[in-house]
Amino acid sequence: MQSSSWRNMIARRSTIIGAMTLLAAGAIAVTRQQQNLGFSDTPMLPGNKWHVHDGTRPMPKVIEPGTASTQDVAGKAPSDAVVLFDGKDSSHWINDKGEPCPWTIADGAMTVKPGAGYVHTKDEFGDCQLHVEWSSPVPAAGSSQGRGNSGVFLFGKYEIQVLDCYQNPTYADGHAAAVYGQYPPLVNASRKPGDWQTYDILWTAPKFKNGEVDTPAYVTVLHNGVAVHNHVKVLGPMAYRQFPKYVPHGPKGPIALQDHGNRVRFRNIWIRELKDYD
Ligand code: MG
Repeated sequence: MQSSSWRNMIARRSTIIGAMTLLAAGAIAVTRQQQNLGFSDTPMLPGNKWHVHDGTRPMPKVIEPGTASTQDVAGKAPSDAVVLFDGKDSSHWINDKGEPCPWTIADGAMTVKPGAGYVHTKDEFGDCQLHVEWSSPVPAAGSSQGRGNSGVFLFGKYEIQVLDCYQNPTYADGHAAAVYGQYPPLVNASRKPGDWQTYDILWTAPKFKNGEVDTPAYVTVLHNGVAVHNHVKVLGPMAYRQFPKYVPHGPKGPIALQDHGNRVRFRNIWIRELKDYD
């Protein structure tokens, strides 16, 4: 065969292979579009590296969503949560001296030991979803801020109040689920003493620049499934009878639980750090 014939045959084969490749790529694109798996010819999202319906954008990670609690049985955390207390293991918690958790661990709960001090997590967290369950002492004793007082502290500083607010009048911004000293809950969704209550807290940490607050913290809180704060701007750390003032700190901090002298019980505590979108 002459060399020109070889060249013609190779050229014809290349053309066929090229056409087949294009057809296959086209078929994949059509299949992705038919399956609603995204597009490549749509507008860019503003301030973003992705197109609308971008077919190359990473799929969300698949997790197991967990289960809700009942009064008798603590629910299961989502599979990607860090379980901070499962009813038995208090090893995530230490006191202010760095010693093992001194609170009482029994009957599936971690109970405040009056006088033993706050406990906080060894690990630190930034923006997060925090789930906490708590129960006020039975029988109810004391009044106002003296009845079933404890607290959940983000970064060990910003308090979501824990208080027995079932038929227990107190000042508004000291109620259960208040951003203490700043915002009362939108409603009082308290259950009676002895019942398990839930907090689901969505926390956006404050950011600092040049020794000043650059963006404040924001918090959303559900008390027993009821929204009681909706992305409210946190004015600063917990302060008693004072206006709060931010003091610069790092991007992560511990979760702390308050010893206010009342035997409040805790169970089923878990946390998920929240990251930016891909
Ligand atoms: Mg408190």
